[in-house]
Amino acid sequence: MSNTFAYAAMSPTTPLVPYQFDRREVRPSDVQIEILYCGVCHSDIHQARDEWGGSIYPMVPGHEIVGKVTAVGSAVKGFKVGDLAAVGVMVDSCRTCKNCQKEMEQYCVEGMTGTYNTYERDGKTIAQGGYASQIVTDERYVFHLSEKLDLAGAAPLLCAGITTYSPLRFAGVKKGTKVGVIGLGGLGHMGVKFAVSFGAEVTLISTSPSKAKDADRLGAHKFLLSTDPEQMKAHDSYFDVLLNTVSAPHNYEKYLSLLDMEGRMMIVGLPAEDPKVSPFALLKNRRSITGSMIGGTKETQEMLDYCAEHNIVADVEVIAMKDINEAYERMIKNDVRYRFVIDLKKN
Ligand code: NAP
Ligand code: ZN
Ligand code: ZN
Repeated sequence: MSNTFAYAAMSPTTPLVPYQFDRREVRPSDVQIEILYCGVCHSDIHQARDEWGGSIYPMVPGHEIVGKVTAVGSAVKGFKVGDLAAVGVMVDSCRTCKNCQKEMEQYCVEGMTGTYNTYERDGKTIAQGGYASQIVTDERYVFHLSEKLDLAGAAPLLCAGITTYSPLRFAGVKKGTKVGVIGLGGLGHMGVKFAVSFGAEVTLISTSPSKAKDADRLGAHKFLLSTDPEQMKAHDSYFDVLLNTVSAPHNYEKYLSLLDMEGRMMIVGLPAEDPKVSPFALLKNRRSITGSMIGGTKETQEMLDYCAEHNIVADVEVIAMKDINEAYERMIKNDVRYRFVIDLKKN
C-alpha cells in the first residue's frame, strides 16, 4: 500500500486529483515530516499548467511546508521526533560547489533540486511536493520553526517569505530606503511586511485600487496605482529599490522609470512571457535589474528566526486539500488575501 496521500496534476490541462504514492524509506540523514500545512504559491500554478515548459507528471505541487517530525535517520543531529519542522523550495543540491559551501545552495553550480517538478539527484525518482500527508527530506534542507508562530501563517514563509526577505537584505534595505513593492499577492504582502520591519519607506505599487486599505494595514506608507499615469509620473526617478513580484506578463519599462540614481529593480516574479527592455530605460539614472531566487539554507533559517522574533507571518485563508482547484482559479482572478494555505487535516 502507498504511504503518502496527495493531490497531483496529471497533465497541464486537467484539475488536480487525489493521488497516492510512496515516499522513500528514511535514510540515515533524513527527517520524515507529517505535513500539517502547505501554502499555495503562484509557482505551483505555473508548473502544474506547464507555463514554464518541461513540466513532469504526475506532479504533486507545494513548497511551503510545515509539520511535525515523525521519524529521523540514525545520523540526524538537529531534529527529534515531535519537533516542528519546515521544508521550502529546495530539497537537495551538490553540496560541494562554491555556492553550496557558502550555504547559498539555491545557486548550486550543478543546479539545485527543487521540492517537486524535477528528478531527485539519482536522475530517475520524481521529487514530489507538499500537497501531501508526509515528506522525507535530508536534514540539511529542513528548517526549525518556533512554537511561537501561528503554524498556518508560517507555512508561506518558506517561499513567499524567503523570496522577498533575501533580495531586500541583499539590496541593503534599511531605515530611509525608498522601497516600492510591485504587486500585492503572496510574495508582495510579505515584501511589504519585511521592508516595513527593516525601517524602509514603503510604497505598494498595485493594479488594484481595492488593495489600498490592505497596504495601509500591512504597514505600507504609500499606495501607488500603477494604472494611473499621473500617479506614475509623480513618482518618476523616486525609488531606490523596486521589488517586482508580478506573476503575469507586464511592461518592465513602465516600472524602471520609477527608479532614482543607481536604483535597482529586483525581479522575483516569473511570468510565462519574457519582457522587452530598452537599454535607454536602464541608462537613465544608471539603473539596474537584478534577479533573485528564494534563499539558501542559512538565510532561510535566519529569516524564520527573524519572523519568530518580530512575530511576522503571512495573512492566510486556510482551505481543505479538495478545494485546491478552486483556489487556483481564485488566485488567477487576483482573489486571494493574501495566501491560500492547505490544512492537510481538514476535510
Ligand atoms: P500572486 O499571489 O498571484 O500575486 C501576484 C500579484 O501580481 C497579484 O496579486 C497582482 O497584484 C499582480 N499582478 C497580477 N497580474 C498583473 C499584471 N498583469 N500587471 C501587474 N501586476 C499584476 O503570486 P505569488 O505567489 O506572489 O507569486 C508571484 C510571482 O513570483 C509568480 O510568478 C511566482 O512564480 C514567482 N515566484 C518566484 C520565486 C523566486 O524564487 N524568484 C519564488 C516564488 C514565486 P496587484 O493586484 O497588487 O497588482
Ligand atoms: Zn513558491
Ligand atoms: Zn552545489
